[in-house]
Amino acid sequence: MDRVTYSYDAPVSQTLFDRAALVTPGGVNSPVRAFRAVGGTPRFMVSGTGPYLTDADGREYVDLVCSWGPMILGHAHPEVTAAVQAAVARGTSFGTPGEGEVALAEEIVDRIEPVEQVRLVSSGTEATMSAIRLARGFTGRARVIKFAGCYHGHVDALLAAAGSGVATLGLPDTPGVTGAQAGETIVLPYNDLDAVRAAFEADPEGIACVITEAAAGNMGVVPPAEGFNAGLRELCDRHGALLISDEVMTGFRASREGWYGIDRVRPDLMTFGKVMGGGFPAAAFGGRAEVMARLAPAGPVYQAGTLSGNPVATAAGLAQLRLLDVGAYARLDAVSRELREMVDAVLTKEGVAHRIQSAGTMFSVFFTDREVRNYDDARAQESFRFTAFFHAMLERGVYLPPSAFEAWFVSTAHDAAALERVADALPEAARAAARATAPTD
Ligand SMILES: *Cc1c(COP(=O)(O)O)cnc(C)c1O
Repeated sequence: MDRVTYSYDAPVSQTLFDRAALVTPGGVNSPVRAFRAVGGTPRFMVSGTGPYLTDADGREYVDLVCSWGPMILGHAHPEVTAAVQAAVARGTSFGTPGEGEVALAEEIVDRIEPVEQVRLVSSGTEATMSAIRLARGFTGRARVIKFAGCYHGHVDALLAAAGSGVATLGLPDTPGVTGAQAGETIVLPYNDLDAVRAAFEADPEGIACVITEAAAGNMGVVPPAEGFNAGLRELCDRHGALLISDEVMTGFRASREGWYGIDRVRPDLMTFGKVMGGGFPAAAFGGRAEVMARLAPAGPVYQAGTLSGNPVATAAGLAQLRLLDVGAYARLDAVSRELREMVDAVLTKEGVAHRIQSAGTMFSVFFTDREVRNYDDARAQESFRFTAFFHAMLERGVYLPPSAFEAWFVSTAHDAAALERVADALPEAARAAARATAPTD
């Protein structure tokens, strides 16, 4: 893939990428940024305004990644920027409690009814890692059920994935995760309640929790089947396990109340990140007060962070959440719908097999003609068509996630002019997808 060349180039990005590769493994600080799945040179961005990003070569793109979700108001929103500037001027970190973190916690508790108490952290990974520890501490049990294709950050125990079908013992998915760490993880197919039931029956006293993406977005968008989350709730209740709903991606994104606003299943614990940080490292986990009370210093389960509740990050997050009113979600819905319709029409016209799946305002495009209900279905798509589509869009100034297994993200700043640019790029990209052929090796 790395050797593939394209008809357009990005010399400044290439120079930066070469420099980066000398000092950083693979030239990036998070793997999917490296364009490995699609080939070519990742674009080094220098600035963003509203729905647009500008790269180091001076090219402008309509951004359909939005920093993988956080930039829900678009880039450099004036009110968020002003809140950040004011916070920076007051000092950037105190290592003491501060009012900003109280206000952000209150905003989360106000919006998300199952969250009675919340603890702020700095990344989604930290949120899920801490929620799992808390669930284990609360139940006194060790094992965790997760679903194949759901991503919960790079927590050791949660990087385990099934080889295929039902795995009763997780195998480490990456070197560096030990068998002991992965061995407490049971990986099951998403949207398969029978598999969850069987796992509980096989070990009724051993399972501390089930963790699931509230609506899966990290294998592309795969919403839970009707009754799936409710079924998880019921099985957890029956067997004394906790339900952890990971809303790091869907939270404050799928709707004003995240996926919970659409599918009212009460989890014991929930995790948040991305949107709630306003483009800064702020994340959270929270839920039932009785469970959260086990957390240090109120209780014995240890959890901490030097920069947790950072005043600049909380100011950004709070400013962003306060701007996300009912009107903002109506706007996101409209933008998302218009894009889905545009992409659907153009791919249909060119005879490209595709499925567009959505969860609230999140959506993604699968290059397959079958419904995608789990990770195996997602992997069965013709991702070589996505590669051709991606590069044709990039060349025409539209920045899509560089992988066929990622959600597309929009912002309230995606106006008619931005959507028109996408519409202009789509016909040729659809033709490129239609022409693409499967790699032979
Ligand atoms: C992004 C994401 C995470 C990890 O968050 P980071 O801030 O990248 O550590 C966890 N869970 C879900 C569902 C996510 O989408």
